[in-house]
Amino acid sequence: MSKKLKVINQGKCVGCEMCVLESQQQLKTAGLEGSYIRILRDLNDGTKFVVNVDPRVEELNIKRVVKSCPKEVFLEVEEDGA
Ligand code: SF4
Repeated sequence: MSKKLKVINQGKCVGCEMCVLESQQQLKTAGLEGSYIRILRDLNDGTKFVVNVDPRVEELNIKRVVKSCPKEVFLEVEEDGA
């Protein structure tokens, strides 16, 4: 069983980038380079955001990423590696 980070409430994202910060802290990087999560403005609706997650996010402590989001955008799911 492997843990995966799933985006379940993208519509609730407010673009605060706390998840990006948490990802960077875990990777010990700063700046957007190397971040496994990116928050982009929705080009069709400027008030909304698109949450972009790199599959390598599984290398991180997913629980902490889930907790970092104040809007409960993420969910930790278990999937077997098949
Ligand atoms: S922490 Fe949650 S609300 Fe904030 S940018 Fe990330 S997904 Fe969006």
